[in-house]
Order: sequence, then structure tokens, then C-alpha cells
Amino acid sequence: MKIICIGRNYSEHAKEMNAPVSEKPVFFMKPDTAILRNGYDFYFPDFTSNLHYECELIYRIDKVGKNIAEKFAHKYYTAVTLGIDFTARDLQEQCKEKGLPWEIAKSWEHSAPISTDFIDVSSLNTADISFELTKNGQVVQQGKSSEMIFNINQIIAYISTFMTLKKGDLIYTGTPAGVGPVAIGDVLEGFLEGKKMFTFHVK
Ligand code: MG
Repeated sequence: MKIICIGRNYSEHAKEMNAPVSEKPVFFMKPDTAILRNGYDFYFPDFTSNLHYECELIYRIDKVGKNIAEKFAHKYYTAVTLGIDFTARDLQEQCKEKGLPWEIAKSWEHSAPISTDFIDVSSLNTADISFELTKNGQVVQQGKSSEMIFNINQIIAYISTFMTLKKGDLIYTGTPAGVGPVAIGDVLEGFLEGKKMFTFHVK
């Protein structure tokens, strides 16, 4: 199983990061050891002093495919959920400055918390899914799939030109504006269409 994450997929987030909006999706990967399922505590890693949450819609691939045309991409996923692309922002800034890959900032153990509930896409309008993240009860991020620069079908078409997508692969589709730091003691809760999807305690 692989985890593919899209960067800069919401223009307001690209702006807050002073990053240009790209003409093609930007993607990077996390290993399966990055997964942290809802119900487990998150432990603040000791190698960063600026850890940021990025709440993201996540699609699960349910069919093997390579070179998938955009018009057929909807046949390759059946479920969506919500999670966090945790980012060591200080390490990411260092990587960007030096032109280095992002793995130490993005791909570490438990950097990909995820809900255990998957929602059938047939019960949703995938073009307009709303979600939000609260930190200690305050809304910090609100997003809508309609605000994505590249929608899930365009993302699948693009990624599958480079690699085979397999059953169980997860695609984190990028974060809306409002990213920010977390500290020990914080509680992060994610909601998809108003339904609570996860609660993570930062320890
Ligand atoms: Mg992200």
C-alpha cells in the first residue's frame, strides 16, 4: 500500500505558503508506516519545533490501474475519508531552501493520521464535499472539494501516468488554507459533511 499526497491543491493555501500555483499536480509520498488510525494518540516528534496540521480529503483506490484516462478515473475509487498530512514545517523550509526532497518533513512515523470510517462516494456529491478541522474546539480549517485546483479524477489520471495504482492505495488530496502549529495537549477533530471522522490527542 502506498500513500500519495498532493501539494498546493487549494489556491488560498498556496498563497499562505508563498508557493506558486502549478500547472500540474505536485505530489509526494509517505510510507505505510506513516498511517496512524483514529483511536490512537499522536506523539509529538522530537525532531521538529514547528509541527503543522494539514487536514485533507483522502480517496481510497479500489481497483488496479495504470495510465487511467480522466474520464474513467471515477471507476478506480469508491470511498473517501478524512485525515491529516502532518508536516514538520521547519524541516520542510530547510528542504525547500536547499532544493532537497521533503521526506524528513513529511514521511515520518505516524505523519498520516486517518479516520477509520470510509464513506461510500455514491452517497456524496464528490464535486462538492465539505470538511473542517477543529483544534481544541475552534474551527481552524474549512475546505470544499469544489475548491481543489485539481480534482480527484485529474489527480488519478496524472499520477497513473507515472505509477500503477493498486487496491488500498490512499490519495491525500491537499489542504485548504488555515494550516497552523500544534502543541502537546492539543486535540484535533475532523468533520466530513458535518460527521465527526476522527479525534487525535497530541501527547
Ligand atoms: Mg498536505
